[in-house]
Amino acid sequence: MSVNNSVIVVGGGIMGVQTAWHLAQMGRSVTILDQFDVPNQWAASGDLLRVFRLTYGKDAFYTEMALKALPLWLELNALSEETILQQNGVLEFAAKDNGYESHSLAVLKERNIRFERLDPAQIRRRYPMYNPRAFKWALFHPDGGMTWASRAVAATASIAQRKGVRIRSNVRIVSVVKDKTGVRALKDSAGKIWEAENFVFAAGYWTGALLRSYRLPIKVTKQEQIFLRPLSNRGRYRPEHFPVFTSHAQAFYGFPVHLHGFIKLSDRGKGREVKKADPDELRELAPKFEKKCRGFLRRFIPEMAPFTEFEGHVCWYDNTPDDDFIIDRLPDAPNAFVAAGFSGHGFKFAPVVGKSLAELVVAGKSELNLHRFRLARFKPRRR
Ligand SMILES: Cc1cc2nc3c(=O)[nH]c(=O)nc-3n(C[C@H](O)[C@H](O)[C@H](O)COP(=O)(O)OP(=O)(O)OC[C@H]3O[C@@H](n4cnc5c(N)ncnc54)[C@H](O)[C@@H]3O)c2cc1C
Repeated sequence: MSVNNSVIVVGGGIMGVQTAWHLAQMGRSVTILDQFDVPNQWAASGDLLRVFRLTYGKDAFYTEMALKALPLWLELNALSEETILQQNGVLEFAAKDNGYESHSLAVLKERNIRFERLDPAQIRRRYPMYNPRAFKWALFHPDGGMTWASRAVAATASIAQRKGVRIRSNVRIVSVVKDKTGVRALKDSAGKIWEAENFVFAAGYWTGALLRSYRLPIKVTKQEQIFLRPLSNRGRYRPEHFPVFTSHAQAFYGFPVHLHGFIKLSDRGKGREVKKADPDELRELAPKFEKKCRGFLRRFIPEMAPFTEFEGHVCWYDNTPDDDFIIDRLPDAPNAFVAAGFSGHGFKFAPVVGKSLAELVVAGKSELNLHRFRLARFKPRRR
């Protein structure tokens, strides 16, 4: 491969494949390297579903960013001829009048984004499975919904390949070769050297270890999820009738039934910090978490609480201290870039992250203001 005009992207998660796809559209010769397959079940993007919401409380910056991502997701739907983003709406249960949901409502209103404010009686009529005493009111926005995560990776990888992107699976990068001018090459675990003009590191929760000399302030937490099968009335939990739901106060969220009639339910709170993700824990389910899920369901969707068929699924967050992302050039390498620290809420933005990163590589700046995501906010210390 000629080094001129070439970019190596380390990591074939959603951020890596989206960046590669946009770089290819900008005429770059791109190779994605992944330690496993693209997609794979250990990556954060290798899971089944992710929430796509336009609501971020008072934080209108992320609402704007989700709005920029929306047409790009719809473009992916069209190009892949699949429903990757499914706009079945997001229903958010509010515990009080003046909280996260009312701030979100104000931002939606200001931006002319469609929404409904529903009282418990209206919810009961529309979605009879909910206990109307569990919440005070609910915010519904029909433009939100869910993304089919691993399918999004596969679909992007496929359209990127059609545009000439090469994908090399089972290539684990173990070191970065640098000189005074920047990153010169990467070395994989088999000793092979990979050279390019530019490099993008989008290695998810492995990024801290891969770029260890930069001491990125990324902490990995273990996040638990449950897949459970409603005992009855499964039809009314289908995506056409049942939006994604969240309760900010309870830190829970869940999805409609997917294939095989299972519902995914998860806890939004940060899990236990771990030094390193343990892939053997992938299907683990702690009895304490199962109990917590039953408790949430007893309160919100009582008919679902006595579930009998279920399975655990663990995923890992790559958290920054402020939960804002890292999308930047490496401080001592003008030809190398990093996109990581997505802190458990990055998926919905992936197309706009990929586009912005590609612009940064090609033009040195992006249409989206990336100031909030710069590395310098952490004052990184070099060894
Ligand atoms: C439980 C959970 C729930 C979430 N829910 C939501 C949600 O509802 N909405 C939302 O917007 N976001 C959500 N997120 C966040 C979102 O899933 C992530 O931000 C996003 O998937 C991160 O994508 P990525 O490409 O950065 O990383 P990943 O998908 O983890 O991909 C990184 C890739 O890099 C590869 N790699 C790593 N190291 C190397 C190496 N040394 N050499 C070669 N390859 C390497 C890996 O194999 C992997 O394929 C959630 C995350 C989790 C864990």
